[in-house]
Amino acid sequence: MDTTFAAFVIEEVDGKARAQCKTIALADLPDHDVLVEVAFSTLNYKDGLALSGNRNKVARKLPMVAGIDLAGTVVESRSPRWRAGDRVIVNGFGLSETHWGGYARYARVKAEWCLALPQAFSLEQAMAIGTAGYTAALCVDTLEQWGLQSTSTTASDEVLVTGAAGGVGSVAVALLAKAGFRVTASTGRPQTQDYLRSLGASAFVERAVLQEPGAPLQKERWAGAVDSVGGATLANVLAQTRYGAAVAACGLAGGMELKATVLPHILRSVALLGVDSVMAPMARRERAWQRLARDLNAETLAQMSEVEPMSRLPELAQDVLAGKIRGRVVIDVKR
Ligand code: NDP
Repeated sequence: MDTTFAAFVIEEVDGKARAQCKTIALADLPDHDVLVEVAFSTLNYKDGLALSGNRNKVARKLPMVAGIDLAGTVVESRSPRWRAGDRVIVNGFGLSETHWGGYARYARVKAEWCLALPQAFSLEQAMAIGTAGYTAALCVDTLEQWGLQSTSTTASDEVLVTGAAGGVGSVAVALLAKAGFRVTASTGRPQTQDYLRSLGASAFVERAVLQEPGAPLQKERWAGAVDSVGGATLANVLAQTRYGAAVAACGLAGGMELKATVLPHILRSVALLGVDSVMAPMARRERAWQRLARDLNAETLAQMSEVEPMSRLPELAQDVLAGKIRGRVVIDVKR
């Protein structure tokens, strides 16, 4: 086992938070029960925020090894839950916020944060899904728990996904289509339409149309929605959601303010269902990963993801914040 290795660390330099590749030692890692040899991490919007130098309340303690996801193999465990050789996924639980994350060859994590890698996936495929994909699965699960069922919708009923060509959006489109829904994708990148169609989208709404300030109640259209954009987009989506239907909101790629009225809720019984992946209980995580294992095949995953070396993180972080990344980016922490 290498005792020193590369890690992407956010540190305070001249009073500012700066992310850089550094060599750290096993002895530097925090004292948690499970030592994992990380194979892959990923790049999420939140990673972009954390690496941007603007702390944005992501990394709340410095120095901080960034990366909100990791997939790897247990090397040592002081917990009876895990043994050397077990393959695990860790996401959320404050990784890259209050606990060191996945942009490093090794990580020490708490036993209760680890989830056994579903047999259907390789470590690379698990990270092609990563936090974004697992959050998409939580959103679909949340809508179904609310009562959205493909068997009770008609062929013309549309379920909307906003930020569709991004990480959460791509996986949400694929999962909803697989569950039998007619999926409408909202994207600001018309060049991604063929890609989104191949994932299962059958209609499109231009991103800009949903960003215009709109009336509090608009023509009822959506039988359900997954929103990763927030801001004016979410306000419009709520105003266009059909009587008794629900919107699962998980993101803020378009803004965190929500200037909306209560009218869709009190006149149409529209539900706004919040989705958090970071502190989601293990039972919910397992259910989400079971759905992913059942509904995403290798071909779909390959289509929506690419592998990049950790050394490219600075450029990639800018790209994700600029909304230029299509689908998912897996980070190879060995390169
Ligand atoms: P990505 O950058 O991969 O996707 C975001 C997508 O949103 C972009 O691809 C783009 O889609 C669209 N978008 C980008 N900028 C804007 C803008 N200014 N206005 C409107 N749309 C925009 O990010 P992720 O998929 O990783 O994350 C999406 C959101 O979900 C983020 O806000 C993230 O923080 C949040 N998130 C929340 C989680 C939770 O636990 N609640 C977990 C994971 C993610 P297109 O080009 O198709 O228009």
